[in-house]
Order: sequence, then structure tokens, then C-alpha cells
Amino acid sequence: MPVNVATTRLDVDEKTPPMVADEAAQVMLLYAASSKDLGDHRVEQAGSDIVFGSLTDRIGTAVRPDGGWWVSNAGWVIGDHTTLAIDTFASESRVGELLTALHAAQRQADRPNSALQLVLTHAHGDHANGAGMFEAAGATVFASAEAADELLSLGIQTFPTLISPPSWGAVAPPSAVTPLTGTTVFDLGGVEAEVTVLPSAAHTAGDVLVRLPAEGVLFAGDMVWGQVTPLAAVGSVTGWLAQMDTIARWPLTTVVPGHGNIGGAELIDSTRRYLDWIVTLAAEVLAGRPLDPAAIRARRATQEWRNWGCPERDVVNIPRAVADLSGDSFSLPAGLAALKDEYGGLLVLEP
Ligand SMILES: [Zn+2]
Repeated sequence: MPVNVATTRLDVDEKTPPMVADEAAQVMLLYAASSKDLGDHRVEQAGSDIVFGSLTDRIGTAVRPDGGWWVSNAGWVIGDHTTLAIDTFASESRVGELLTALHAAQRQADRPNSALQLVLTHAHGDHANGAGMFEAAGATVFASAEAADELLSLGIQTFPTLISPPSWGAVAPPSAVTPLTGTTVFDLGGVEAEVTVLPSAAHTAGDVLVRLPAEGVLFAGDMVWGQVTPLAAVGSVTGWLAQMDTIARWPLTTVVPGHGNIGGAELIDSTRRYLDWIVTLAAEVLAGRPLDPAAIRARRATQEWRNWGCPERDVVNIPRAVADLSGDSFSLPAGLAALKDEYGGLLVLEP
């Protein structure tokens, strides 16, 4: 079924992001220390894993190729009067690097005063915890209605029962999130971004895709994974697969996944094949052939994703799909407990 919908057009008046002199100086210092040009490079800052790159002179990417737990991707599109950022990172240090590189890209594009807007592909903290920092840098924040509710009601996501606490730094939720529905065309000035809210649960209950039709680029959020095991614990595997039919029909040359390396349409196909496999195993469980973690590992070892990161997600994705197929309830606490057992304790990560 094609994604909905009423298309609205959002024209944004040019405005200057409110950046005080101190902030500007800090940005310049950070920029000097980290990102001297916009070609592909690793940020020269201890501990950073962000690879900043550009797809065109207007489209920037912030990719963390390992793509593990809470190691996500982001990007931006610079228009003549408005810059649209797509997603943030989870910790103050990574979000600071992202904002520094984004401001540098605006200067390099000769659009230093391009008004900043942020679209969140969903509410997960690895993509959204930096929304408050973007708001403080002058951004208007957009998300699906479901993600907006989650961000404003739950605040920063740190999952202390799942994650061994890293240094999150001073991240805070935004004070406001503008909810989107259907498909909205953001006219940025010389470039348009089509922002689509998916009509039903997939990776989460409120997923958003950002497509640049003229450039054939898709910022897919966690709907597409770049050779990293997808996570479906809080969404719907069958709903996700239904939406992939829509995404696969779009003419695309470049797909920026939520995690892992940039690729083309093959990333959509491989994510879909993984989800199909999960549904196949869930159907076996429903047919009375239960799968324990060892059996799941053995089955995975014969698949093309056998070397993808985060293999422990299989043990929560399968019961999620069982619930989706059967209509029975799904216990998220039980699913996450199984995941932690398979991983070997609290998740250790560097957001
Ligand atoms: Zn996610």
C-alpha cells in the first residue's frame, strides 16, 4: 500500500540562528580541532568514530561505520535559506561534534545563516537525545506525533537497566517538538526534502523517512540497516516488512541507513531479507517448534547476516514477530532480559 497522503509545503522564512559570541567561538575552536574539510575523514578528536562526508555540495553525512548499539548515523541538507538536519547522536560530546561539522558545512556552502531545522526519524535516544542541543543552537524540531509524545513525556533515553552507563554529558530533551503527519515537503531553497511519517508501526510506532527525490537520496533512519542486525523490539516486524514494499519502489541511488555504512538500494533488500528470516523463524515457533538461543545461533550461522553486528537482537526480534503474527501480547521486559542474557550482561557502549 502506498504511503499516504496529504502533501503540505513548508516554506520557512530566513532567520539567523541565535548563536552568542561565546558559542560561536567554541564552535570555531572545536572546528579547528576536529574537521578541517568536508571530504571523507575521521574527526581528529580522541575517541571519536564519526566519519563526516558529503553526497553533494548540499548534502552532508555523519556516519559511524561500526553501527553497533547506539552507534548511529545522522546528516543534513543545506538549502539557500534553511538547513534540514536529520537525527542527532546520544551524548553531549558526539552531538557537539555533529553541530560543529554542520555549522562548518553551512559556512563552506556560503550559507552560514541558513535557518536550522531538525527532523528526528524516531524517538530512540541514539538518534534523538541531542534534540535539545539542536534546539539550543536555534533549530526547530520535527518528528512524528508518536515520537514527539515519547520525547516530551519520557525525556532523555538512557535505559539504565539495559545499558552500562556511559558518559552521556549534558543532553536534554527539546522544549517543543512539532508533530508531522503524512508527507511534508520541506522547501529549503534550491533543494526539497520529502519527509514521510509511516502510517503504522515498523521499527517503532512513529518512524519518519527523509527523501531527496531530485538527488535520489534516502535518509532511512532505523528502517534500513547497513549490515548491522536490525532491532524490532518496540515495533512490528510484519508492519516493518509491509512498509519496505513502499520504500523499495522509490528510485534511489544512495541510502543512508540508521546504523552502518552508506549504500544503495541493496541495503533495503538485505534489511528486508533479514526481517523475512525472522518471520520464517517466528512461524516455526508458532507451529510448535520452539527455538532456543543456541538453535537461533546455529540457524544464523548459515545466513548472509551471520557476521553482522549485534547478533543478540535475534532473540528479541523472533518473539516480537511471533506476537505480530499471532496477535498475542509481547513482553518487552522478557524480550530485553533474553537479549541481555545473549549479549552477556548490560550493554557496554560508547554513544
Ligand atoms: Zn532505533
